[in-house]
Amino acid sequence: MKDDNFLREMNARHLWHPMGHPGEAHQNAPKIIKSAQGVEITDIDGHSVVDAVGGLWCVNLGYSNDAIKQAISDQLWKLPYYSAFAGTSNPPAIEASYAVQEFFAEDGMVRAFFTSGGSDSVETALRLSRQYHRLRGEPTRTKFLSLKKGYHGTHFGGASVNGNNRFRITYEPLLPGCFHLPSPYTYRNPFGAIDPELLAQKIAAAAVDEIEFQDPSTIAAFIMEPIQGAGGVIVPDASFMKLMREICDKYGILMISDEVITGFGRSGDWSGARHWGVKPDMMTCAKGITSGYFPVGATLLSEKVADVFENAGPEGAIWHGYTYSAHPVGAAAVVACLSETLRLDTKTNAAARGTQLYDGVCRLAEKYDIIGDVRGGHGLMTGIEIVSDRDAKTPMDAATMKRIHQTAYEAGAMVRLGAHNILMSPPLTITEDEVNRILSALDAGFAAA
Ligand code: PLP
Repeated sequence: MKDDNFLREMNARHLWHPMGHPGEAHQNAPKIIKSAQGVEITDIDGHSVVDAVGGLWCVNLGYSNDAIKQAISDQLWKLPYYSAFAGTSNPPAIEASYAVQEFFAEDGMVRAFFTSGGSDSVETALRLSRQYHRLRGEPTRTKFLSLKKGYHGTHFGGASVNGNNRFRITYEPLLPGCFHLPSPYTYRNPFGAIDPELLAQKIAAAAVDEIEFQDPSTIAAFIMEPIQGAGGVIVPDASFMKLMREICDKYGILMISDEVITGFGRSGDWSGARHWGVKPDMMTCAKGITSGYFPVGATLLSEKVADVFENAGPEGAIWHGYTYSAHPVGAAAVVACLSETLRLDTKTNAAARGTQLYDGVCRLAEKYDIIGDVRGGHGLMTGIEIVSDRDAKTPMDAATMKRIHQTAYEAGAMVRLGAHNILMSPPLTITEDEVNRILSALDAGFAAA
C-alpha cells in the first residue's frame, strides 16, 4: 500500500474528478475515503463519519450488505461478462428484469432495458420516446419538455433537458427542441412567494402555453423528477405531477418519471411517482438498483409504450444499447439488492428516519438565521438552503458553505454541498442514533458559520 502523501500527490497529478475543477486538487486536497462499514465511511487519516450523502444518493443499503457482495462475487466466478445484445441473454439479467418489473408493477411498468447508470437510462428514455412516436406515425414529435432545476445526467440528451445552466452552457450547442418550465420551487420562483398548490397550477398553465406555442404535434416527452434531487431537494405540491400527467395525456406527450434518486425507497415509497398517485409512461432508474455496489441503470416501459415496439414491423427494432447493458455481474447485484431492499423494507425506515432528519433540521432553523429554507419530509432526502440574509434570501457565499461542510465533517458527518444548499441522502438503513449524529454535526457546522 502506498503511503498517504504519495496518494495525495498522485491524486493531484493524475486524477480528474467529475464535477470539479481539475486544478483544484492541487489547492484543496480531497478527502480520500479508504473504507466503509454500515453507514460510516473512513478516510485515509482514520477519521470516521456518518455518510449523510449515501455515496451519491445511491448507497441505500449501507456499505456492509453481505448478500450483494456475495452475489457479485459468485457471479464473477460463473460468468463475469457476456453481451446481452439480441441473440444472447444470461440468467441474472432475466431474473433482474423480473425483479425490477415486480417492484414497479404497481406503477404500470412491464419491461426493463438495462444500462450502466442514470445518464444512460435518461438517454435511452429520450431516444425510445422519439422512436415510439415514429412507430405510431408521428415522426414530427421530437421535442422535449422538462423543469428548471431538474437534473437528468450529463449525456447530451440529459444535459439538454437539465434545468441548471451550470451543466449546460459550457457544452452548447445541445439538443435542439428542449424547453424548460419553471421548477415547483416555492422559496424562489418567477411568480413570487405563493402557496405550493397555486404554484403548481401556474406551472401547469405555463406548460399548456408552451406546448401550444411549440405545436403539440412536435413534442415527444416530458421528463421530471418526482422530487428534484440535485437541484436542492425540491418537493412539489401533491397536485403537481398529476396536473402534468393530465396535460401529457391531453396532448399525446409521453411522461418520463426520472426515478434515479427517488426509486427504490429513498422517497419513502418504492417510487416517487407513486407518492403523487401518477403512473408514468416510462421510468428511469439507477443508484439504489444496486445500492451503488455495481454501476447499473434501467429504463422501464409501460405496456402502452412496450406494445407499440413489440407489435411494430422491423422498424420496432431498437438500434440503441450499451456493451454493459444487462451485464451479468451487474444484474446479479440488482437481484440481490432488490431482494434485500424488500427484506429490509427500507421504504418504511426511510419514511420514519426521513421525518426525524427533516424535523431535526427544522429545529436547527429556529436556532440559526442562516437557514433560509428546509425541504424534504418525504423519505431520506433533505435539502437546506443557506442564506446570509434571511429577509433578502441572499445566497450564502462559497467560503462559508465550505466552512459549514468541513466543520460538520470534523464533527462526524459527511454532507453534500450544492451551491448554497446542503443536501442529505443517507443510507435507508440508518438508525435513530445515527440520524442524531448527523444533526449534531450539522449543529456544529452552522455554529461555525
Ligand atoms: N437523473 C437523476 C434524477 C439523477 O439524480 C442523476 C444523477 O445524480 C442522473 C439522472 C444521472 O445518473 P448518473 O450519474 O448515474 O449518470
